[in-house]
Amino acid sequence: MAFELPPLPFAKDALEPHMSAKTLEFHHGKHHAAYVKTLNELIEGSPLEKKSLDDIIVETAKDQTKATIFNNAAQVWNHTFFWNCLRKGGGGQPKGDIAKKINADLGGYDKFAEEFKKAGDTQFGSGWAWLVLDKDKLKVIKTPNAGNPLAQGQVALLTIDVWEHAYYLDFQNKRPDFIKTFLEHLVNWDYAQRNLEARHALAH
Ligand code: ZN
Repeated sequence: MAFELPPLPFAKDALEPHMSAKTLEFHHGKHHAAYVKTLNELIEGSPLEKKSLDDIIVETAKDQTKATIFNNAAQVWNHTFFWNCLRKGGGGQPKGDIAKKINADLGGYDKFAEEFKKAGDTQFGSGWAWLVLDKDKLKVIKTPNAGNPLAQGQVALLTIDVWEHAYYLDFQNKRPDFIKTFLEHLVNWDYAQRNLEARHALAH
């Protein structure tokens, strides 16, 4: 079974003016689609063909000879995850358990936002900033290129893509403005909350 490009969980123009239909047309329709296509070509006829995307990522993460497979598999996963981290009318402060956990583990929303912006801004070149669970504690991390928390035993709750292709059409070189816009207008905190709940359901 080949992997497929999942549809966006919203209309292409739903996030305007913060993320344009044009950006999504390229980012989802070209970049994400290309990762799916390349991954399928790379694993065709190999034992990896029958594995889940999560398993492929974990298995190839520490094997330099499979770096190209890892990069494409992780980019498929990361992008699918990222689309779900966005919603129309999103952004602002979280509520409920995720908010309590941010207060307890990270010292409150403002501290989280500051750390998250810093992680995204300081990721040299391409990569991702994440809110993850690391042994049941929240952490803000960054990963270069296709890096994925799964590969390091962490559970992803939220991410932002800071590859130039994520923001160049809307923000040109101004990555900090893109991250600020993501936090203020786009974050889907319900999704982060669901990821936290799913983790707790598994652990108990
Ligand atoms: Zn991307």
